[in-house]
Amino acid sequence: MMIVMKPTATDQEVQAVIDRVQSVGARTHLSAGEEVTVIGAIGDREHVARLELEGAPGVERVVPILKPYKLASTQFRHGIRSVLDIGGRKVGGDGFAIIAGPCTVESREQTLETARIVRDAGGTLFRGGAYKPRTSPYAFQGLGQEGLRLLAEAKLETGLPIVTELMDLRDLDQILEVADVIQIGARSMQNYALLAEVGRSGRPALLKRGLSATLDELLMAAEYILKEGNESVILCERGIRTFETAYRFTLDLTAIPVLKELTHLPVIVDPSHAAGRRDLVMPLSLAAAAVGADGIIVEIHPRPEEAICDGAQALVADDLADYVERVQAVAVLAGKALAAV
Ligand code: PEP
Ligand code: MN
Repeated sequence: MMIVMKPTATDQEVQAVIDRVQSVGARTHLSAGEEVTVIGAIGDREHVARLELEGAPGVERVVPILKPYKLASTQFRHGIRSVLDIGGRKVGGDGFAIIAGPCTVESREQTLETARIVRDAGGTLFRGGAYKPRTSPYAFQGLGQEGLRLLAEAKLETGLPIVTELMDLRDLDQILEVADVIQIGARSMQNYALLAEVGRSGRPALLKRGLSATLDELLMAAEYILKEGNESVILCERGIRTFETAYRFTLDLTAIPVLKELTHLPVIVDPSHAAGRRDLVMPLSLAAAAVGADGIIVEIHPRPEEAICDGAQALVADDLADYVERVQAVAVLAGKALAAV
């Protein structure tokens, strides 16, 4: 339920509405815009309706939120887009975020070398997996704790905030020591216990779309995090399963403008996992910027032929600066501000 206040409503009238909504056990979210103040009420619809807030002092109208997700909906924020502050770097809004790094942390040398390249190319955040979701249980599963330690070192040296994946709740405390953003991988998108716990942790989350998840399912997954009071969620389109077999996944570019209509959350694109092939990463990245993505998460490696995982799709790290320049140029054409690199 959205309670739209009159432009003339006083602070006391706004507070009185909030108090009444909370008195029936519902949660409130205040959006005080320049023109209009809106109170979002999340809870039992019947209980809130019984308050008959339409007639309360300062209230202009009461509007139901029709989508199954509430906190994630554009309506809930009255059209105001979320801009996340991740260690001083913005994701969402005017800027175009570049999140880059290796698929997995392999060694100290590889991690620090790659992080320096990301910093020098003007990257926004550094990515790297310490715990890897692998299709085969026999494949390399990540360096675990040692990987997290190397990510902490990379952060200390470059100042880049860290994005790393959480797969198992038992690793949460360790990951919270290092991660500025917790990645929830495509395979974990519907692990609701994991989502709720990341929500409770309050740490920004990068939520990837499941391999065959609809946009409603993605937004409901985001709702699990938001519901716990964590407002910092980044959505990521990373390719979905279709009948096409000529390439790894189908990057659903239509999802970007549609998600931006449905939700106030920032939406980024992962061209690497969609493509599975290096030569497709640039064209897909340019396309993602053109359709209005808020950023990119891309895999790079100093020597992709030596990469332990996802080497075939990794951009050569030394090419990152050129890549960033080209993708940013398209993002600017699509309305983003020129990056202050
Ligand atoms: C990754 O980012 O390395 C990864 C495994 O991504 P996804 O969950 O999208 O497959
Ligand atoms: Mn990968």
